[in-house]
Amino acid sequence: MTGGASVAGLIDRYGRTIDYLRVSVTDRCDLRCRYCMSEQMRFLPRTQLMGRDDIATIVGRFIARGVRKVRITGGEPLVRRDILDLIEDLGTHLGQGLEELTLTTNGTQLERCAARLHSAGVKRINVSLDTRDPLLFRQITRRGDLDKVLAGLHAAKGCGLAVKINMVVLAGLNDTEVPAMLRWCGVQGFDLSLIETMPLGAIDEDRADRFVPLTEILERLSGEFALERDAHRTSGPARYWRSPWGTRLGLISPLTANFCDGCNRVRLTTDGKLYTCLGHDDAVDLRHALRAGGAPALDAAIDHGLAHKPARHHFRIEPGSGPTVARHMSVTGG
Ligand code: SAM
Ligand code: SF4
Repeated sequence: MTGGASVAGLIDRYGRTIDYLRVSVTDRCDLRCRYCMSEQMRFLPRTQLMGRDDIATIVGRFIARGVRKVRITGGEPLVRRDILDLIEDLGTHLGQGLEELTLTTNGTQLERCAARLHSAGVKRINVSLDTRDPLLFRQITRRGDLDKVLAGLHAAKGCGLAVKINMVVLAGLNDTEVPAMLRWCGVQGFDLSLIETMPLGAIDEDRADRFVPLTEILERLSGEFALERDAHRTSGPARYWRSPWGTRLGLISPLTANFCDGCNRVRLTTDGKLYTCLGHDDAVDLRHALRAGGAPALDAAIDHGLAHKPARHHFRIEPGSGPTVARHMSVTGG
């Protein structure tokens, strides 16, 4: 599909330029992290998942319209069978409009995939690791084997992928482990992003019981380590510090600090829907538009979505309040 000269770039009604697309390539996962999904999570029927060609066409269109960064996510992207082929397809856009192709993964399949990811042009990945205690890892993920993730991280590092660890901080589970995680990441040369648990999708417990404001964690870390404020900004919801090892510490705190004013991202789900905000239910069916009317209909649907991008999310975590949004993070793509 060629880029139409008359089609405008991606600017929403609040004047925010959208140059970052997150793509959830599957809602399925080999883990069941307790803050993310329920033990009995029900996934979309396979027939509803977009094929590799549809994903490549839609992502290609976003790149033609000004998207510079694409993050592949899920569910667990590396459990999708054709994922490496798809990433190779998308990698052909690098240097042709696309500046960065990246991935968020739980790391369980990383040992097998790392080298091919790197040769496809992926330079940096985010790996979720909420604890380095094998028993607690199994408790949080309900089935995970920590050794597999550590082997994946070793392979990633070995083939030159830069790694950022994502850690969702959970009261009474891993909150006391944050200083040790920061130190370990520093020694390994990994950046670390701490994340507040967000009220997305029903789980088997009350998220309010596990919620930790990251302001508290920052206070604790500042007492223990010499952290320097880092001016790095990404238009995302993170604020950054430099650790004594030179690695970056990011705080993603959508509940206690709102950065929606500078939001530059939209999300494509595995069933072809465009969500312009993680915290709202409005979506546009891009796959349907593409099939019904080709490129012009796809462009019109993208424009419609952007015209309705909300100003901000309204996440709320209070005892008994339940999820603000019924959709799980694994569906929209974290
Ligand atoms: N499966 C991959 C992984 O775990 O990295 C990618 C998808 S996962 C949905 C992306 C990120 O979202 C992970 O870092 C995960 O910890 C985080 N996440 C999932 N559910 C969340 C929630 N309710 N609140 C905050 N972060 C969440
Ligand atoms: Fe799977 Fe990632 Fe959700 Fe954990 S956070 S259940 S690994 S999608």
